[in-house]
Amino acid sequence: MVTEQKEVTADEDFIVISGLNKWYGDFHVLKDVNLRVKKGEKLVICGPSGSGKSTLIRCVNRLEQHQEGRIIINGMELNNDVKRIDRIRQEVGMVFQNFNLFPHMTVLENLTSSPVWIRKMPLKEAEELAYHYLERVKIPELAHKYPMQCSGGQQQRVAIARCLCMNPQVMLLDEPTSALDPEMIKEVLDVITDLAGSGMTMLCVTHEMGFARTVADRIVFMDQGEIVEQNDPESFFSNPQFDRTKLFLSQII
Ligand code: ADP
Ligand code: MG
Repeated sequence: MVTEQKEVTADEDFIVISGLNKWYGDFHVLKDVNLRVKKGEKLVICGPSGSGKSTLIRCVNRLEQHQEGRIIINGMELNNDVKRIDRIRQEVGMVFQNFNLFPHMTVLENLTSSPVWIRKMPLKEAEELAYHYLERVKIPELAHKYPMQCSGGQQQRVAIARCLCMNPQVMLLDEPTSALDPEMIKEVLDVITDLAGSGMTMLCVTHEMGFARTVADRIVFMDQGEIVEQNDPESFFSNPQFDRTKLFLSQII
């Protein structure tokens, strides 16, 4: 185990993003983003397509690299230190729009591979853990199937269980239901709602505003690379402050 001096304690902000700027070539994709997330907090990030939502959450586990500003997670600042990036990735789980399961592995193997290879967990223990989380997402019977033999909703639940097997401190979810057929959206949102209730810290990009209203502690609205406003769901929906937010809400609700 790596032990490292923490710069903040657990009841302070778990994620601190300050003065974050990122460019793709000449394109200024994130503009002076400031965001703080407390342990156990659930944030929904919304905004028009292309506003930088995915880029922002991908910066949090270094799938994208920022050029200016700071990202501090659980007291550790993201920098080019590869060991630190690995350590942060173990604390920050990610669920993608398109599930990103390993197609050549069974569901069980998808769940056990990281605990075994990264955490060096004995296989038997990793399998017990995998079954525990497959029960949690209500699909233990799929353990020996391959991803292609599962529906989209089932695959996303496998992806969530895989993420949980690494015991993350925070989960990043990037439009977890937007690749799903409508009848499968609820089963995945139910799993995420259950997780939210268990105290998991979450940053979820979604356009599911019913879900946002019930699960989010705070809604963050982005447009053109900026955080335009953020508020608790009640205030956000009933009293948006900016025309850009009003326009967005009028288009999706
Ligand atoms: P969102 O998730 O809000 O739809 P993204 O973060 O995916 O937005 O993208 C923000 C903007 O950055 C878009 O204009 C997109 O085309 C651009 N972009 C995203 N990824 C890349 C990349 N790897 N290279 C260049 N431009 C990119
Ligand atoms: Mg996106």
